Amino acid sequence: MAIASRTVKDTRNAAPRRGEPHDLLRALPAPVPIDCVILGGGAAGLWTLDELVRSGRSAMLLEANELGRGQTVAAQGIIHGGFKYTLRGLLTSSASNIAAMPTVWRACLAGERPPELEGTRIRAHACHLWQTRSLVSAIGMIGARAGLRVTPAPLDRDSRPPELRDCPGTVARIDEQVIDPVSLLHDLSGRHRERILRIDARSGLELRCEGPGRVRTISLINPDSGDVLDLAPAAVVFAAGVGNAGLREMAGLDPQTMQRRPLHMTMVRGELPYLNGHCVDGARTRVTITSALDHRERTVWQIGGQLAEDGVSMDAPMLVERAAEELDAVLPGVDLHDAEWATYRVDRAEAATTGGLRPDDAQVVGPSGGNVLTVWPTKLALVPRLAELILAQLPEADPARRICGPIGADFPRPMVALAPWDAAEQWVRR
Ligand SMILES: Cc1cc2nc3c(=O)[nH]c(=O)nc-3n(C[C@H](O)[C@H](O)[C@H](O)COP(=O)(O)OP(=O)(O)OC[C@H]3O[C@@H](n4cnc5c(N)ncnc54)[C@H](O)[C@@H]3O)c2cc1C
Repeated sequence: MAIASRTVKDTRNAAPRRGEPHDLLRALPAPVPIDCVILGGGAAGLWTLDELVRSGRSAMLLEANELGRGQTVAAQGIIHGGFKYTLRGLLTSSASNIAAMPTVWRACLAGERPPELEGTRIRAHACHLWQTRSLVSAIGMIGARAGLRVTPAPLDRDSRPPELRDCPGTVARIDEQVIDPVSLLHDLSGRHRERILRIDARSGLELRCEGPGRVRTISLINPDSGDVLDLAPAAVVFAAGVGNAGLREMAGLDPQTMQRRPLHMTMVRGELPYLNGHCVDGARTRVTITSALDHRERTVWQIGGQLAEDGVSMDAPMLVERAAEELDAVLPGVDLHDAEWATYRVDRAEAATTGGLRPDDAQVVGPSGGNVLTVWPTKLALVPRLAELILAQLPEADPARRICGPIGADFPRPMVALAPWDAAEQWVRR
């Protein structure tokens, strides 16, 4: 068990002021009993918090930085239905687990099922798929063969977006929506502000454990006032992305249960077509491009796919050159002369797998004798499924743990993290 140092005041043990009852007579505030405490306010933590509250459980979420900092704000926002995982023509277990997700998200985004996400911006209702060679023209068939619910529909030349009109191979549309992750974070956190606290995870958080993964109390030091708040949770959910490894160590659990898979993403902004989709050659996605508008209404492309995997070993100038060549090859008609370029690095955090491959599903590890669940959604699209898996493993609401009145009302509240294009410090022209 790691005990974080306490250098700020603990008001429970402060000397009594004149007129106050003596320490021995004054009742120390007992830890607040609560059904669940979540650490980490990305998409996974916030969605789970919403589910817990709707299920009648008492819950708080503790965030160490800005909400969604790490993966959620860096994500391209595609609500995958599994097509990417069937490029070899097989229904892998990844594809079958994710197949239902577009329907669930669509209903939430339309306000037809909880959590109602009418405040979450939809950047596109569908993605396009295209090829640079005419050799493999079976794109439209692959998803159908693999039994997916959302499958690509080939487009004739006139129905294609102008920049894909002259592609030599099949161009298809797939009904995978693209959402704006920053607005999702605002949407989910805005309705639970009183339950979300900003903490200093390095020196203001202490997990007191009775054994590995058995948290008895969580002590929080208010970063502004130095006051201490103790929570006595029935269950704890670590939903801190890459931060899960450190939290597991604090709780006496094995941090090696997590793997990181790095990416080096490219961003391009300027007079660009608003394009969302994947250039697929054979069984690999050469690039995945998603479009957003920045605060000055300029189109920004985020570019992932194989390029972002290959870019890990490159520095930023090298990746920009490589990205420009790749875009020239996959979108020959698009003029990027005046475009500005930037890159960012980010690690995907997942449950460890043999060989370091992407897990097939959302992952929940624990509690095996303790009361801690460590969770990773694997994909943003899988967050609803993850929340369902978490709730199935948590104890029911207990009236003895019902919260009466605000907890930690004087704690600071975390902001939502900036989108990568708003956070980027340097944009370059080639
Ligand atoms: C570049 C990129 C593109 C992606 N694109 C897609 C896509 O198009 N579609 C898709 O389905 N998936 C996509 N993903 C995957 C998706 O982004 C992630 O699976 C998902 O966002 C993970 O959410 P999370 O809440 O688990 O983690 P995170 O978003 O990383 O959130 C973790 C939170 O925990 C906080 N935290 C960290 N340490 C602590 C601590 N000690 N105590 C308290 N809080 C802490 C962090 O500040 C953060 O707010 C993409 C991922 C990347 C990296």
